Amino acid sequence: MNFKPKSTRKKRRFEPIESTPEFNFLPLIDKIKTDIKIKYALCPIGQRKQNYPGITDEEIKDNKIPLIILRGITREELSKFSLNGQNFEFTYQEMYYKGDRWYVACPKCKKKCHNLYLPTNFPEKEQRYLCRKCHDLKNTSNIMASDSPVYFNVIKPLKRLEKIKKLISRQTFTPKKVKKLLREYKRIEKKLSESPEYRLWKLRKMTLQAKNQQQKGPTQT
Ligand SMILES: [Zn+2]
Repeated sequence: MNFKPKSTRKKRRFEPIESTPEFNFLPLIDKIKTDIKIKYALCPIGQRKQNYPGITDEEIKDNKIPLIILRGITREELSKFSLNGQNFEFTYQEMYYKGDRWYVACPKCKKKCHNLYLPTNFPEKEQRYLCRKCHDLKNTSNIMASDSPVYFNVIKPLKRLEKIKKLISRQTFTPKKVKKLLREYKRIEKKLSESPEYRLWKLRKMTLQAKNQQQKGPTQT
């Protein structure tokens, strides 16, 4: 089912930065649902039959989008979502009088979840988004553990590089301060390039990306 003209179709991008190993799907799902509801409310009554196939004459007059239609479009929108080249399956549970509650299925065990994890700090673990149990993460905070060597040598410096880029793009600093930030940037880059942890981390990431590309085939832009 296609409810939208092609020109207004946008691929959603919720790309996390490298240092975000945990992804909570609830805000994404909420945003998608809200957008659909707003779009429906703004659609002139005369056009609803055309834009929302299957809607009944009675439902058209209602300002609230029929649940079945909301469900269909939500599923369609969610299927477009990808994270680090990974696509996901979603399921919902009917909540009486409250609409649907959506979940993401863990790609491995298919358990219904709201959060999935990419344990970048643990190169020995499978480098794709899975549930906590499949990654055997006893406590989710341990993937963020600031005393792990990967956090200290890879994640933290990468975070700082992102921060410096943001700071410089704000253009509120004096040339002197910008120079200082650029020097720091270069220093961190150099340190990263010399760090064995970073090289291993990058290699794994590239291998994973290449694998994802192969699975997906050539991407369209
Ligand atoms: Zn799982």
